[in-house]
Amino acid sequence: MNTFGYAAYGPDSPLAPYTFERRELRPDDVALEILYCGVCHSDLHTARNDWGWSYYPIVPGHEIVGRVIEVGSEVTRYRAGDHVAVGCMVDSCQECDQCQKGEEQLCREGNVQTYGGHDRITGEPTQGGYSKHIVVREAFCLRMPEGLDLSKAAPLLCAGITTYSPLRTWGVGPGSRVGVIGLGGLGHMAVKLAVGLGADVTVLSRSSNKEADALALGADRLLLSSDPEAMGKAASGFDLIIDTVPVKHGLDPYLPLLDVDGTLVIVGQVGPMDEASTVPLLLGRRRVAGSPIGGIRETQELLDFCAKKNILPDCEMIRMDQINEAFERMEKADVRYRFVIDMASLSPEEA
Ligand code: NAP
Ligand code: ZN
Repeated sequence: MNTFGYAAYGPDSPLAPYTFERRELRPDDVALEILYCGVCHSDLHTARNDWGWSYYPIVPGHEIVGRVIEVGSEVTRYRAGDHVAVGCMVDSCQECDQCQKGEEQLCREGNVQTYGGHDRITGEPTQGGYSKHIVVREAFCLRMPEGLDLSKAAPLLCAGITTYSPLRTWGVGPGSRVGVIGLGGLGHMAVKLAVGLGADVTVLSRSSNKEADALALGADRLLLSSDPEAMGKAASGFDLIIDTVPVKHGLDPYLPLLDVDGTLVIVGQVGPMDEASTVPLLLGRRRVAGSPIGGIRETQELLDFCAKKNILPDCEMIRMDQINEAFERMEKADVRYRFVIDMASLSPEEA
């Protein structure tokens, strides 16, 4: 199938139109027309090759909401016209213990990323959702629950599940004290979801001008991470801190904020961090952990949870041709709180 979208052609060049092929449908494949795609900071990291594993051209985008246009001969769960979603993964071995548990993100053979991965059968590089169509295995397709606003739901597929999964893993519920470092795409979802689970939620931000937003999102307070006195007063006050900061940084200011047995879970920065002291870890039996996205079962659970609780990301809708400007704004932390591309704005003439 011939399709079109926007690709990065190199680490230093802006995204530009790109025409390419999607594979012929395999028996267990679903073909989607993409309606909306969220803009994740990982898209920007990948376009710029910050992690060193990008290829070019590469089509970013892993927060995909669309409509089924065709299904393979063995597909049972979807048919043309259904509203569905695709997140950060499009395949895994489906046989290892992790896949069997529905934790495909932890597949022993490695999951296949929606972009930046390689097809398990052909080895072809995968291409993401800044495009008109995608073909994906049925098992990696999510059902959009009735009543969830399609134009706003896309960021749930990465920002949502990446923050929901640690909240569930560490058993957050009423009475839990949760901190969220960085109020961006992931951070604002962490706030909404932790509030939805009944937790007491604090935003830890460098930006005091985000305080009103933090409260409007449902947080109980904003703690200015650049204010040592306020940080000192908050010591030992958290059970779980979710760290969404996208760049190299230090953990020393944050570790003393954890209570005994508390956990700081890194979901943002990929790669080396600044040196950190082990003193607060040892003395308080505190922990540092990491967490990648979430499994398909848990992602469906999240979509259903958000539909039930009416939790939706705060989105700024953009046209496809505004993507480079959106990247620039994202680098300046000037997003409130997720850009979503309206794929109706992508015309074949452009490509
Ligand atoms: P984003 O929308 O750009 O938000 C990041 C936030 O971090 C900013 O709004 C800002 O909040 C804070 N921040 C930015 N630069 C900072 C700096 N130099 N020092 C301290 N804080 C800073 O990004 P996002 O889409 O939420 O993604 C965040 C990170 O998560 C990215 O690195 C992305 O690749 C990663 N990610 C990981 C997974 C996973 O599976 N673990 C999944 C998706 C994304 P304040 O202004 O409030 O300080
Ligand atoms: Zn993402």
